[in-house]
Amino acid sequence: MRPADSIAIIINPAARSVRATQQVEKVRAMAQGATLLLTQAAGDARRLARDLAHSGCPVVVAAGGDGTVNEVVAGLLESTAPTPPTLGLLPLGTMNVFALELGLPVRQLDACWHHILSGPTREIDAWQAGNHPFVQMAGVGLDANVIQLTSWQSKKKWGPLSYVLSLARVLDQPAGQLRLSVDHGPWLDGTTALFGNGRFYGGPFPVFPNARPDDGLIDILLVHGHGPATFCKLLADVLTRSTDDHQESVTRLQGRHVRIEAPAPVPCEIDGELGDHSPLVITRHDRRLRVIA
Ligand SMILES: [Mg+2]
Repeated sequence: MRPADSIAIIINPAARSVRATQQVEKVRAMAQGATLLLTQAAGDARRLARDLAHSGCPVVVAAGGDGTVNEVVAGLLESTAPTPPTLGLLPLGTMNVFALELGLPVRQLDACWHHILSGPTREIDAWQAGNHPFVQMAGVGLDANVIQLTSWQSKKKWGPLSYVLSLARVLDQPAGQLRLSVDHGPWLDGTTALFGNGRFYGGPFPVFPNARPDDGLIDILLVHGHGPATFCKLLADVLTRSTDDHQESVTRLQGRHVRIEAPAPVPCEIDGELGDHSPLVITRHDRRLRVIA
């Protein structure tokens, strides 16, 4: 058992809503003895995680969605602490793909807390897209364009549907072109490149059914086409868990070092948040992450 007073919880009360307040109160009641730290603005979770690492805190819990996890991970990775804290998760966000990947009971907060107190740990790879670390996914092209186009107001008004509305707009525009090179190999052309540290991408969708977050390799899906037809084919492949390498619309690859270039800058998303633009390099972080999972 890990004593609750050895655990610090970084909680992101996403929107200033009644629901967010209720979530904070629920966590406070459940996690008695633990230190609760509330974020107020973007960047807070990262700074708090880094400070906790430097102060020798053994367990840091990211309470929020994938965006909060990404910030906490970034803070842990950039600390110079010889033994960075172990990461725990309390999935509270709209998107909890990383928690899903780790097999956590994402809809049962009490069970997740119990797991933080007594669950086993494992080491996983962390990756870097340009200057931004990620633990679950990154994408250059279509999905980053969708995220870029989806405003906070639209998310608040339409929920997950806001992404579908943005997707329809992106698919209607001409495709951007990019090219990538894996482990200094030949250049391959495409319109979108998706990167997976684990199986799930953008939700409970096993885009990378064979990916392992601890094998030192990033799984890559390079999409060649664009438009609704390509997207529907891609979606069908994902839903039927097809990993046929000989489809003409996609190329599947694995590697340690990926270079991406494009004639015009293409946006990149990391764990569902906007990151850098192309050109950029995706490489394994020199530190691994210890997680309770
Ligand atoms: Mg891997």
